[in-house]
Amino acid sequence: MVLRVTKPEHVYHFTCAHSRKDIGTSNCLLLPHLHPWLGVKLIWLTSEASPDRRKTGLTMDHQSCDRMAFRYIVSDVENCRPWLDSSERATLGADQLDAFEDGGEAAPDQWWISSQPLRARFDRSWSDKPVPNSSVWP
Ligand SMILES: [Zn+2]
Repeated sequence: MVLRVTKPEHVYHFTCAHSRKDIGTSNCLLLPHLHPWLGVKLIWLTSEASPDRRKTGLTMDHQSCDRMAFRYIVSDVENCRPWLDSSERATLGADQLDAFEDGGEAAPDQWWISSQPLRARFDRSWSDKPVPNSSVWP
């Protein structure tokens, strides 16, 4: 599949409190993490500044973490690739792909990936609420 997708000016990385702790809030560098199904390390990104939780695949169905608690903005989009056009997506079987993209409920056209570390800016305007310090910590 070859798509002609206009690369957005910014992409966004949403994450939970645990990952925010790792990434930090200044001089931020996002690092690719191993995806168990794909067997490769990727950073997951979205073109949407304020995505729908379900469409962007960040529901809390499988974990208690709020994976949309924090937002990072990536302006260096050179190494970012659209998920739909990726070789990684092509490795998934039909059933896996269906599960991955939530049986059509997700909006994978909004998904972007990077295999390279990305500089990012922590967006304080997204979450002015205090960091939860409760039982979600491992
Ligand atoms: Zn977490």
